[in-house]
Amino acid sequence: MRKPISLLLLATFLACATSGCGGGGPSTTATPTPVPPTAGSPTVTPIAEETATPQAPTATPTGDESEATPSAGSANVIFHNGTVLTMEDDFPEVDAIGIQADKIIAAGKDEEVLALQGPETQLVDLAGRTLLPGFVEGHAHILRFPDRAGKTLDEAVEVALRYGLTTVTELCADGPFLEQLMEAERQGRLRLRVNVFPEYNAAILDDEGNRIYMGVWFPEHGPILDHDRRLRIPAIKIFVDGAFAPGRGCWAVTDPYSEEFQAEPFFQEICLSERGTLYFAQDELNRAVADLQASGFQVALHAAGDRGIDVALNAIEYALNGEPNERYRHRIEHNSMVRPDQLQRYATLKPLVSVRGYFNTCDQDEYVMPFGPERFEWIANRFVLPGLGIHAYAEGDFGWTADPADRTASRPVDPLLTLYGLVTHQQLREDGSACEPDPWIARHQIGVERALQMLTIEPAFAVSQEDVIGSLRPGKFADLVILSGDPLTVDPDAIKDLRVLMTMVGGYVEYCAPGHEALCPSTTLTPGPTDTAVAPTPTNTPAPPTATPTTESAAPVEISLTAEEKWVPANTPVVLRFGWVTDTPEQVAAFLGSVQLIVSLDGELVRDAGNYWSEIKEYGDHDVDGDMDYHAQWLYPVGVLSPGTHPVGTEMRLQWPVTDGFDSDGDGVSDEYSGTWELLLQIVVGE
Ligand SMILES: [Zn+2]
Repeated sequence: MRKPISLLLLATFLACATSGCGGGGPSTTATPTPVPPTAGSPTVTPIAEETATPQAPTATPTGDESEATPSAGSANVIFHNGTVLTMEDDFPEVDAIGIQADKIIAAGKDEEVLALQGPETQLVDLAGRTLLPGFVEGHAHILRFPDRAGKTLDEAVEVALRYGLTTVTELCADGPFLEQLMEAERQGRLRLRVNVFPEYNAAILDDEGNRIYMGVWFPEHGPILDHDRRLRIPAIKIFVDGAFAPGRGCWAVTDPYSEEFQAEPFFQEICLSERGTLYFAQDELNRAVADLQASGFQVALHAAGDRGIDVALNAIEYALNGEPNERYRHRIEHNSMVRPDQLQRYATLKPLVSVRGYFNTCDQDEYVMPFGPERFEWIANRFVLPGLGIHAYAEGDFGWTADPADRTASRPVDPLLTLYGLVTHQQLREDGSACEPDPWIARHQIGVERALQMLTIEPAFAVSQEDVIGSLRPGKFADLVILSGDPLTVDPDAIKDLRVLMTMVGGYVEYCAPGHEALCPSTTLTPGPTDTAVAPTPTNTPAPPTATPTTESAAPVEISLTAEEKWVPANTPVVLRFGWVTDTPEQVAAFLGSVQLIVSLDGELVRDAGNYWSEIKEYGDHDVDGDMDYHAQWLYPVGVLSPGTHPVGTEMRLQWPVTDGFDSDGDGVSDEYSGTWELLLQIVVGE
């Protein structure tokens, strides 16, 4: 009775189980029961693709070749005649780049890449402009707090894209925010890549000064590491010490704050103790980090003061137990005050570290009073970290406490301000002039090239995505930006004046600066999720199950709801399909009695979805046990879709448990299913 689990089915299960939905394992309850993905677990049994569907123009596998030579097949888009900063070690700078569907297929000299030009290829003449990988924000709260400024999540996404961010790392999430992101992903509204870190504990302490356990996501779920998803959950955020804010206490420091500072009302109200505020005893943090590591998560430890950093380093060392951090990639966020003796420890243990790029240089004198001049250098030591041979990424830490357009705020959304800050340590005043850093900050220089790595490949490494984003090479996602100038050659002071002219995510132009339309290839310009035109769909009058729309243009293409992405030529009718196979016709009937399919297309609910189920039919010997199996199919004719991307979100709810009569896991008991599954499909229609 054992049936083979195809890759398709397994992939379906993984996509489902990791999206926060229940099911997967045998269950006797109708309550959704989330189960972390495990290879070989029983799966839902959607019918495998039977008919070959057209592939993207030339689906040449690009693999992960790292050379700059073009792959075979023609490109959808070629950017040429520019300065292409690949951020690759072995071919740092090239002239041109070729893109096919969502991936880079070539990066090299103009003539090499132009050889991939086909009749449909769009050529974009960069006219000497600079193209580089999309910026990856290593530590921010861009999507979490737009409501602080009366904005929506979608508007926050738009802001990030306008500043050239193609991936953001959202450093903490409570349950509702995580839900909001998942819904946005299902509806195709995440127009950039998002890595989100659920909270272990809250940023604030309770009234008694104790930490507040949050336990978001990780107790029931494993990490989400799928590169094909827009939303990933690689790490858990832990707050180790304070942050000079009400409810949060102050940085945990080894030597007490100055007596003068301790006499301030601010200190007495906020800081709680003369050595600041530590949220964990060492053994508690050790256990938390080790447990999360054992569950497959990275940890991101907020540690600002040197005492907090000691505790964070100790906990990472404890969890690693002699193994290299390269493998687990635990991170320390902020690193705001590093003692000289700790630098060696960083170099040895190699935690990944975030570094505030746009330092608050205009307020540099304010560090005197709490710490005294002897601890100045400790504050500046964060800028030493990138030179220690450890992985360091820039931290913008934008959280809507200032307007995105405010160029004086030291937590900017604009990665070019972060770049400017890393390189010059200057900060802008209201009038546009710059505050110059005092020697204690100024002497720790970071070169432009290193700083650019801290905004691209390093933050990609810090979320284990360095193989798919963060640099430009064949096989990686086509996530890139075009800038008004070359940060490597302009005067460092002029970096702040560079502008993003175009932002592309996964081969789609997601932002095009007004007046620069020539740089924005039109075939990949995707309209916002709300104004995507959709051909009329038969939502009111259910078509007979086997009906296909009559059209002169082309034969309809059936796309399974379990697919992740399908490319369809223009003017081709689409039929959505879902199927359920079981051992007996009665089991199909029981499934049809229990199931509710809730399907959305372009964010709009498909009405009367339940009416599109076929009658129960013979299917063949699906489990290869020698007798006939049965199935029902859900076939929903969509008609012809407009060019562009159309997200299809599916929720499959089982109102009570059902069985398919098979025994996929060979435990001698028929598989039982319950709960809710979620599927996400993108239909990409060509021009
Ligand atoms: Zn933060």
